[in-house]
Amino acid sequence: MVRFYSPRLPEEKVLRDPVHSYIHIKSQVIYDLINAKEFQRLRRIKQLGPASYVFPGATHTRFEHNLGVYELTRRICETFDRKYPSQRPGDGLWDPNNDLLAECAALLHDLGHGPYSHTFEHIFGTNHEKIGQQIMLDPHTEINAALREVGPNFPEQVASVIAKTYPNPQVVKMISSQADADRMDYLLRDAYFTGVSYGAFDLYRLLRIIRPYADGICFENRGMHAVEDYVVSRYQMYQQVYFHPASRGMEVVLHHLLTRAKYVFQHNSLPVSPQLGAFLQDNWTLDDYLMLDDGVMETNFLTWTENSDPILADLAKRYLYRKPLASIQIDDSTKNLLPKMRNLIKQAGFDPDYYTAINSAFDQPYDAYKPTGKNANSQIELHQDDDSLVELSQLSPLVKALNGTFQGDKRFFFPKMMLHESDEPELFDPLYQEFQKYIKNGRLHYLRQPKHK
Ligand code: ZN
Repeated sequence: MVRFYSPRLPEEKVLRDPVHSYIHIKSQVIYDLINAKEFQRLRRIKQLGPASYVFPGATHTRFEHNLGVYELTRRICETFDRKYPSQRPGDGLWDPNNDLLAECAALLHDLGHGPYSHTFEHIFGTNHEKIGQQIMLDPHTEINAALREVGPNFPEQVASVIAKTYPNPQVVKMISSQADADRMDYLLRDAYFTGVSYGAFDLYRLLRIIRPYADGICFENRGMHAVEDYVVSRYQMYQQVYFHPASRGMEVVLHHLLTRAKYVFQHNSLPVSPQLGAFLQDNWTLDDYLMLDDGVMETNFLTWTENSDPILADLAKRYLYRKPLASIQIDDSTKNLLPKMRNLIKQAGFDPDYYTAINSAFDQPYDAYKPTGKNANSQIELHQDDDSLVELSQLSPLVKALNGTFQGDKRFFFPKMMLHESDEPELFDPLYQEFQKYIKNGRLHYLRQPKHK
C-alpha cells in the first residue's frame, strides 16, 4: 500500500482536555487540520444542541469531541503498532502505514455538522456526512489544502474511511462500529459535561484489551467486564440523557420554530441573516453552510421574538427562554386520545401544527447495542485464547439481558399550559380539566402495562 507521510512537528503540541487529560498533536497535517477555518468553526457548534437547556453544563462543542476521537484513535494506533504490527499482508494484524489515515479520519469524522444538526437536516434536507466529505474534497477549503500536503489522493482516502468504503475494515471500524473511538469519546464526554454519574466506563482498560483482527476490531476476552461496562454505560446514557423528554420538548419547539420561519419567509418577509436566508429559500451553497453556527441561529431567533407573526415570535421566545413543550408517553392503544387532545389544544388557542408533535426517540440516529438484525456485522467480538472470536452477549449475561430490550419511547408533545390552572377559570377550566382527564387515562394505561414488551 501507499505510505502516507506527514512531517513530525519540531515540537509536539499538547492540549489539555478534561476527559482524556491530554491530546497529543505530533504531525504537521493534524496541526494544520485543526487550524483550518472549517474545523475551527466547530468551536461554535454545541455537541448536544438543545440538551444544554436540560443539562446546563452540556455546552461542550463538536470541536472538543472531534479532538477527543482523534486522541483515542491515536492511542489505539500506538498500541496496535507496538503489540500487533503486521508481518506480512493478510496476517490480520495492523499495518502501521494506516496510522496517519486513521488519525485524520477520526479528527474529521464529524466535520460536516452544523448547528442543531438533527433538526436542521430534517427541515432543510442537509446531510452532515455528505457535507463533511464535500468539505474534504472541495479544492477551495483549507481542510482540502492541508490533506493534499500528504498526497494528491489523500482527501479521497480520508473521505472513504468516513464513508466506510475504505477497503481496510480495521481502519473503518476503529472510527465507526458498535465499539469505536467515536462512541467511547462521546459517552465519556457527554457524561462529564452533563454531570451524570452513569456514563463512566473503564477507558484505560478498554484501550489495553482492544486488538485488530482480519475483519475489524475486537477485545481480549480477559477484559470482558470493561466491554460490558461500556455497553451498560451506553444504555444508561441513551435512557437518561439522549432521550430526555424535556430535551426532546425543546427540540420540538426548535423544529416548529424553523418550520414557521420558512413559512413566514416564503409567504411574507422575514428579517434574516443572508446565510440562513439561503436555506429558507432552498437555495444554498457550501459557503452558506459554513457560515452557520449556534450564534448565527440564536441571533436570528432573538430578532424573531419581536416579529409581527405571533406564532413565530412566541416560538422564538419559547426556544430562547426555555419553555419546552410537555409530553406524555403514547403507543397504539393510547393514540385514540390524540385527536381529542389536539382539538382541546386548538380550542385553548394554539395551532396544533405548531404546538403539538409526536416524537419518537427510536428515530434518533444513535443506534442502541444490537448484535443481531441489520447491524449484525458490527457486533462486539471477544478474542479467545484459541484465536476464535465469540460475540459479547454469548458470554455476558448482563449484555444478554439488555439485548433486544425496549429502548426509548414515543411521546405526544403539547403546551405545558394545558396542565395549569387558568387565569380565566370560567372560560377555560372545563377544557383543561377534560384535557387532564385524557392525560391521566394515558398514564394509568402505562401503569397497567407489563414491563417488558
Ligand atoms: Zn462523533
